[in-house]
Amino acid sequence: MAGNSEPLSPRAKLAVTAGRAAAAVSRAAGRGSGSVIGGRVALKLDPDLLARLATHLDVVLVSATNGKTTTTRLLAEALRAGGPVVSNALGANMPAGITSALAGGSDARYGVIEVDEKYLAGVARDVTPKAIALLNLSRDQLDRAAETRMLAEKWREGLAGTEAVVIANADDPLITWAASSCPTVVWVAAGQEWKDDAWSCPSCGGVLQRPSDDWFCGECGFRRPVPTWALSGDYVIDPYGAAWPIHLQLPGRANKSNAAVSAAAAAVFGIDPKVALERMYKVQAVAGRYDVVTYLGRELRLLLAKNPAGWLETFSLIDAPPAPVLLSVNARGADGTDTSWLWDVDYTRLAGHPIFVIGDRKLDLAVRLEVAGLQFRVCADIDEAVRAAPAGRIETIANYTAFQDLRRRVGN
Ligand SMILES: [Zn+2]
Repeated sequence: MAGNSEPLSPRAKLAVTAGRAAAAVSRAAGRGSGSVIGGRVALKLDPDLLARLATHLDVVLVSATNGKTTTTRLLAEALRAGGPVVSNALGANMPAGITSALAGGSDARYGVIEVDEKYLAGVARDVTPKAIALLNLSRDQLDRAAETRMLAEKWREGLAGTEAVVIANADDPLITWAASSCPTVVWVAAGQEWKDDAWSCPSCGGVLQRPSDDWFCGECGFRRPVPTWALSGDYVIDPYGAAWPIHLQLPGRANKSNAAVSAAAAAVFGIDPKVALERMYKVQAVAGRYDVVTYLGRELRLLLAKNPAGWLETFSLIDAPPAPVLLSVNARGADGTDTSWLWDVDYTRLAGHPIFVIGDRKLDLAVRLEVAGLQFRVCADIDEAVRAAPAGRIETIANYTAFQDLRRRVGN
């Protein structure tokens, strides 16, 4: 499959060129990298372009509510052991962004593509992937559990009969439900920290029983499949029972889970887990996430948390008290405009930390922290918060647009 076996048609070439031109204009106008507008223009000129750009690639798709950008980076690094990789590393994960990323990858052997959950089935139809990695499904902002269940159903229908090898997290009942229509599934015991969206059986609506490390439905018999790969502490256990150490520069249990799924996915492409995991060490910050920066003479670690499951994972990796914690919440378009999801997060894990609150919706967050019985201080902006924080690295946790604001402010 590698190499340029099928040259692009004149129309496809025109579409790619027009897309690049549009991207360049957009960049010149100061509207970011221009990759999405370029992809949009190109797809308008040639709707089959995505499929065409992918024909010479061995493609793997990555989707999830949390961790897909990081996993895409880890997996891309692993597959580079086998040849050049093209990837939408900056997280432009809808069809236009994916098209634009692939247009730059004519010499690549592998395409490692992060896909927004809502577009997964469509992109999978277009690019005929060799593998699809599915990590987790939980609600985003206001999406209630019922909507998450509908998304799982959409995946289940859209991926039924796919020729791709699906690598799926067996510890997530919704992922299991979504993947169980696929003919070839590699199940990975990758863990699930956030269980609030997975107490009802995706198959029959019954109550799921969740004894430790297992889950099953007492009513219809839908149950956790037997995994062939597993995350076990700091190791990935492969199907032969061999344990491979995980060494990451990225912090936290969630990233070990991402590494385990990535190792299982890399194996589909013939990359040895030892080699795959060693290469993953190279990944440092992902689009600024986890970056440690110096600002006003203080060290800040930048952590992104977009939804309740993300906040929970983030709390588990911050330094112990008395490390100061700075929280920033906005409610602009990309964040979801309703902040009631703040009530789904268990903030008691922040007890003992000096807490500073900023962002457009700092007062919503303040009310929530007050109810949780925590001590905190509301600040006008990041400068005031940083100056007020006691000694120690400041763990800075922000949702999507608040995170972008922070990165701009600290010059990262
Ligand atoms: Zn059931």
